[in-house]
Amino acid sequence: MPAKVSIQWLKDKCPKPQECGKCLEVCPSTVFVRYALQRERYKEPQNYVIVPSFANFCTLCNKCTDICPNNAIKVELKA
Ligand code: SF4
Ligand code: SF4
Repeated sequence: MPAKVSIQWLKDKCPKPQECGKCLEVCPSTVFVRYALQRERYKEPQNYVIVPSFANFCTLCNKCTDICPNNAIKVELKA
């Protein structure tokens, strides 16, 4: 049974997720998805966001919070 967790990605601390992506790589439950904003045909997107789309699969292992160099992810057990 997956744990009920609250996962936050703090944009201010992670301005260029396309240049890091460590949280995406390390999460064993593939909780995070990286989306491009302002997509335009034939242009490389400049801005991305990380969304914990599959937070219900989080096992609270904290690998993402441990590896993030900017403390940009918060994972908490929901009350
Ligand atoms: S705590 Fe573990 S399972 Fe949950 S999002 Fe982070 S890396 Fe993934
Ligand atoms: S590990 Fe941290 S800095 Fe790197 S992409 Fe994920 S949230 Fe951003």
